[in-house]
Amino acid sequence: MDTPAPLIAAIEAGGTKFVVAVGSGPEDIKAITRIETSDPAHTMREAIQFISASARKYGPVQAIGVGSFGPIDLDPASPTYGFITTTPKPMWSHTAIVAPLHSRFQVPVGFDTDVNAAAIGEMLWGAGQECDPLVYITVGTGVGGGVIVGQQPLHGLLHPEIGHLHIPAPRTPGVIMPDCHCPYHKSCLEGFISGPAIAARWGIKGEDMPADHPALEEVAETLAFGLVNVILTLSPKRIILGGGVMKQAGLIESVRSHTVRLLNGYVNAHAIIYAIDSYIVAPGLGDRAGICGALALGLNAMVEARKA
Ligand SMILES: [Zn+2]
Repeated sequence: MDTPAPLIAAIEAGGTKFVVAVGSGPEDIKAITRIETSDPAHTMREAIQFISASARKYGPVQAIGVGSFGPIDLDPASPTYGFITTTPKPMWSHTAIVAPLHSRFQVPVGFDTDVNAAAIGEMLWGAGQECDPLVYITVGTGVGGGVIVGQQPLHGLLHPEIGHLHIPAPRTPGVIMPDCHCPYHKSCLEGFISGPAIAARWGIKGEDMPADHPALEEVAETLAFGLVNVILTLSPKRIILGGGVMKQAGLIESVRSHTVRLLNGYVNAHAIIYAIDSYIVAPGLGDRAGICGALALGLNAMVEARKA
């Protein structure tokens, strides 16, 4: 008889909601719930209670994975490892996430950015299989990017902050140049194409841009500037574009064509010149990329702990 796959608890920690699940893989989610992101003590207590109740029903979890909004501390040597750090979100700055989970369940806890989590989930089960390096970018309430190199999420100094790449301000003819919506930068990707930035400039939601609206073309070209920088810096084998804004019909096609145009033949790779449709793609896991990514982080933590 096959040994049952180990049960993992997964937390997709977002700024408006936490999604918490217990399962062994994308096709085997035993239990899942959504918890409002209120104050840290309340939200973490509800998440822990859900995992405990699921464990009583389905068996103990072997590890926990958390993909979190940030910025977060990923340096294992730091006294604030496992914390959400300098977020402007009220009440959440300098909040411990890993420690309360570890002290309650005594199992390995994998912790990473929400976008690194989505990237690792896509690498394991979605549109990023066999693609290394892999980049996952989300365009929604914010803009962020996760990077996989050597099958592991890239951390480095902190973690990649692709949403804040410096790019030229959009210049749609007949429309005045926008103010950058980012409080830190005067001309960054998130400041021009996040959902709130699109709403402030055009008065429409990012996911409601009509196909013939100038906003769509402008968002596509602005994102393409970011992708060009990512392609030139990291040389990824594939780029996955997720998030609410990317659900807009026609947007990904336009991003592809602007990216090819801006690269102007310089990156002489088959994927860019002949196969852009399978190079810049939507998430294979769809809206489940985040929670499946957290599950993948938990699995990763379990495997690493067994090696140690
Ligand atoms: Zn910025």
